[in-house]
Amino acid sequence: MPTKIDWCDTVWNPVWGCLHNCPFCYARRFAGRFYRTVARKNNLSLEETEKLRLFQPVFLPANYSRKFGKREKIIFVNSMSDPTFWKQEWIEKVFERIVREKDRFFLFLTKSPSAYRKFPAPLPSNVWLGVSATDTVSLIERAKELFGRYDTLPTWNLFVSLEPIHEDIVTPETVPFLEKFGWVIVGPETGSLRKKLRESYLQNLKKWVSSLKDFCSRSGIPLFTKEACVSYGVKLHQEFPLWR
Ligand code: SF4
Repeated sequence: MPTKIDWCDTVWNPVWGCLHNCPFCYARRFAGRFYRTVARKNNLSLEETEKLRLFQPVFLPANYSRKFGKREKIIFVNSMSDPTFWKQEWIEKVFERIVREKDRFFLFLTKSPSAYRKFPAPLPSNVWLGVSATDTVSLIERAKELFGRYDTLPTWNLFVSLEPIHEDIVTPETVPFLEKFGWVIVGPETGSLRKKLRESYLQNLKKWVSSLKDFCSRSGIPLFTKEACVSYGVKLHQEFPLWR
């Protein structure tokens, strides 16, 4: 499946649905438009179809079984869900496939890293775990949760997605956490929200990304600026970890 997410080759969504209820959720809107087609393709019952419509978590067997193309090496596993709400049996099935697909990398992203406590240990080496954060408070809180569970994992298995970034993330309090990640992704507000932004956001975004760029370059951490940054006048800087 082609994707507009520029830091991966493709998305693989064996589960749709998320209960975080973020106000501007693109995935929920997408599910609202396409749930019927997806329900048919996955042979869902009426009850499951209704769950899909309401964006409640549902396992999708046909999505799960889809074949990956030769060029699909970096795979984002949950652009339509958050593993926080996955059943244990879904996690086990997904990992059964991941360990068979040794030449691909599987990336998860969550707002609640305690979700990863349900993941197998030791973690397969082709799995990357990410946390998303938008400001220093959420970054510190989520990084503590993540590193509390994975303090022995090599940094190359952990990444952070700062999207949409809301302030300068590089501070004395955040640096000890940022230094532990193997990859940093950053992106701005997009879509309809962008139109509502204050002038200060437009002006500051460049400074915040530049501050991250300096930090990453000093620390030897690859930084990936999302393509949407260009419309804010930010020069793209798209680095991947060594596995790329
Ligand atoms: S965490 Fe992601 S998928 Fe879940 S409601 Fe928020 S934006 Fe949507």
